[in-house]
Amino acid sequence: MKAARRHFRLQQAKHATLAAAALAVAAIVLAVTAELLDLGEIWRWLTLLLLALPMLVGIGFALRLHEQIRSLQRRFDASRQRRDELQRVNQRLEQELAKRVDYERRLAYQANYDDLTRLPNRGLALDRLAQSIKRARRLNAKVLGMFIDLDPFKQVNDSLGHPAAERLQREAAARLTEVHREADTVARLGGDEFLLICPDVDTVGSAEGLAENVLAALSPPFLVDNQEFLVRASIGLAFFPADGNDPEQLLKNADVALYRAKDQGRNRFSFFTREMDLAAQQRLMLESHLRHAVDAGELRLVYQPILALADARVVGLEALLRWQSPHLGPVDPTEFIPLAEDTGMIHELTRWVLEHAVSQAATWPREHPLRLTVNISPKEFALPERLIETLMPLLGQGRLPADRLELELTEGLLVQDQPATGNALDYLNERGIRLCVDDFGSGQSALVLLQRYPFDALKIDRRTIQGIARDPADAALVRAILAMAGALGIETVADGVETEAQAEFLRRHGCHYAQGYRFGAALEADEVAGFLAAIAPVRA
Ligand code: C2E
Ligand code: MG
Repeated sequence: MKAARRHFRLQQAKHATLAAAALAVAAIVLAVTAELLDLGEIWRWLTLLLLALPMLVGIGFALRLHEQIRSLQRRFDASRQRRDELQRVNQRLEQELAKRVDYERRLAYQANYDDLTRLPNRGLALDRLAQSIKRARRLNAKVLGMFIDLDPFKQVNDSLGHPAAERLQREAAARLTEVHREADTVARLGGDEFLLICPDVDTVGSAEGLAENVLAALSPPFLVDNQEFLVRASIGLAFFPADGNDPEQLLKNADVALYRAKDQGRNRFSFFTREMDLAAQQRLMLESHLRHAVDAGELRLVYQPILALADARVVGLEALLRWQSPHLGPVDPTEFIPLAEDTGMIHELTRWVLEHAVSQAATWPREHPLRLTVNISPKEFALPERLIETLMPLLGQGRLPADRLELELTEGLLVQDQPATGNALDYLNERGIRLCVDDFGSGQSALVLLQRYPFDALKIDRRTIQGIARDPADAALVRAILAMAGALGIETVADGVETEAQAEFLRRHGCHYAQGYRFGAALEADEVAGFLAAIAPVRA
């Protein structure tokens, strides 16, 4: 439409120009003729008029041309403005687009990678494992899944704080990255858990070699805040397809193997076997029943007498936890306490034991002011404030006096030698609570640490006591422990004394107290009063 109008205007202009030119030519012809023929004034005017007409047409045309040029200019300016505006909008759009692409890239990174170590996270690891398994299925090949759990990060976290623990994690991740080969994936599954996926490792021998390389890479001490830390790794290994036909099953079984490696004492690796699977299932079943044991009233305490060896006085009772499950029957504490420690349920159990033992001890006859001994798991010292908060309100003012409570702690706790543990032990000692090292002589006894912490007594492990008669090494160890405790001014208790010969040996070498079947097994709570009434009153 616009083009037709422009064409029409152009035609008009052409015709106007032609008409003006014709008029001008006619005027010139007329002027020349009038001059030559001397036609008079009227013709001259006529000629002038004819000449003026094309001029007027020209002026009109020039004015319209000018107007058109201005309108063109305006249109040109407007379209330039529009173009600039469009350019600006385009630029903004491009920037927005770049930002969005970057944001999406970051989102994808965060969804797939671990922020701390920059390793693939659990999601991506599972995806890679699934891809490797798909490929292995096609090629009839194997995939090795290697679960790695690192040990002391929690301790670093507790003693040096979160940033130090994070540095340790990063350093461990870097060392693991150096060990793995191009085709492998090393991922952080969360916490202290890492996974190595190795599509090309297909023999037990090469898997062992790789696991040994991982342990070797992690064994040099880690330097954090000028302190050296030893990281102890446990590794569980499982192969596709033999140990798991899909990623979940393979991971679960590598995890089962990892637990076996941990059980065997860390810094080692273990391959998955079918028997382990059974053990893992039993463990899961035990765990689910234990979760209800407190609320369902399935727990109770029994009390084993502790006697002075010199005159057979009863000086105290050790509270021992019992679990009678309606589904599983009686479950041994050596079975459910470690499980409770691994799953975090131990805190609930400790609280239950302390509350019940202290309130039962408060009912014991006053003429027998006995000590109450309670076992405390080393796991409680990961957060000693919680233990102190549970314990302190139970003592004093009409309840059990603090100096009649004794806490038994295993020596493994001392070997870890954490400042927070020392502070908590000092606090408890200052409040008058007695502290005793349990199972002394069973493992890595660190005698020097006995000097460092405020222990009142040590309890010699019952396996060592039972070896006295048949193993000269055990007899020598008991003598050495008694001599050393004597020198340090620490009282001694012998655990698991079953025969008079053992009791006599201990008496001769200056052991103060003993407990064991020789003197009496653990009593039910309602048997304690009768038992105490049957014996002569004792001094504390
Ligand atoms: P423990 O603290 O060394 O407790 C002594 C264990 O030796 C008890 O086993 C006791 O019944 C047993 N025993 C006592 N006298 C003899 C004896 O003459 N010969 C033999 N062979 N054994 C004897 P129990 O009750 O099965 O407890 C085992 C372990 O479970 C305890 O060892 C302790 O480490 C743990 N435990 C028990 N109750 C608790 C608790 O309330 N809290 C915590 N954290 N651990 C507990
Ligand atoms: Mg004990």
